[in-house]
Amino acid sequence: MKLLGIDIGGTKTAVCAGDETGRLFASQRMATPQDADTYRRNLLIACRRTAEEAGWRLGDVGAVGISAPGPLSVQDGLLLAPPNNPGFANLPIVRIVQEGVNVPVYFNNDANAAALAEWRFGAFRGTPDLVYLTFSTGMGGGVITNGRLVQGKTDSAGEFGHMVLDPSGPSCGCGLRGCWESFVGGRMVSEQVKGRIRREAIRTQIVAEAGGDVEAISMRAITEAYRKGDPLAVEVWSEVLERLAQGIGIILMALDPQVILLGTMAIREADIVMPLLMERLPRYAWKWPLEKCRIAPASLGDRIGDLAGLAVALVGWESSEGRGSEKRRLSP
Ligand SMILES: [Zn+2]
Repeated sequence: MKLLGIDIGGTKTAVCAGDETGRLFASQRMATPQDADTYRRNLLIACRRTAEEAGWRLGDVGAVGISAPGPLSVQDGLLLAPPNNPGFANLPIVRIVQEGVNVPVYFNNDANAAALAEWRFGAFRGTPDLVYLTFSTGMGGGVITNGRLVQGKTDSAGEFGHMVLDPSGPSCGCGLRGCWESFVGGRMVSEQVKGRIRREAIRTQIVAEAGGDVEAISMRAITEAYRKGDPLAVEVWSEVLERLAQGIGIILMALDPQVILLGTMAIREADIVMPLLMERLPRYAWKWPLEKCRIAPASLGDRIGDLAGLAVALVGWESSEGRGSEKRRLSP
């Protein structure tokens, strides 16, 4: 089946052509402009060029899947308030693509789309109960239960990053305080570390790892300094891992999944994430769900963006064709 996947990011948008097995035939990358009209035009050109590069005509495409940052409305096909693209508020992205390409278009948030990609194309494909966690600059998630993505009434299912772990914790951009993301997301953790270094005038290897510039501190600088035994980095990283275990413990007890996959940071820093996490988890979950759950770095790595769009197209098409209930339960 010929599928197009669109992965919308704050600064870049990727369009790819692939099939139901996750094989990729062509892809195009474009900058995501701030202006919605330019975006509409460039996106449709990229769709046409990607299809051509794969040797297809646009009309041969069976379905298009779009993965985009939330908040969004899947039912209405709208980007609601993309944090990095204020000009796209309420952009009817599904209608735009549908009018330009004239085939069925499906849509979901990037974390749900990544969960679908791991479930259809990843190392644990076909596992009926799987949770995917982005663990990157933020903490997003997607839940597959009994072979179906859990969407929720307002598309908020799987927003684990905004479970409140401590109501007196740091303020989160979402309006709550002490969200899981504020303790483990790369952006908020590095902001807190910058603030602390400035306030307390701490001398730390973290600054050296950021090229001597406090403003440039990222999670990468913290993990590099941790590897060198820097005391502040050790303290910060232990707190991140403790909170990571706390959140995953809640997910284990709430959903009892077979597989929990962790994205970006767990892939890049597996050796300083996985053992420390597994050591802490027994304090946050019963041993039965914990022992039966495979907790691992996500398997698709850099291909996740392309495959996320394809998975949204594939699963959307299967569900709407009414073949979903049977097919969704099968390993691809
Ligand atoms: Zn929040």
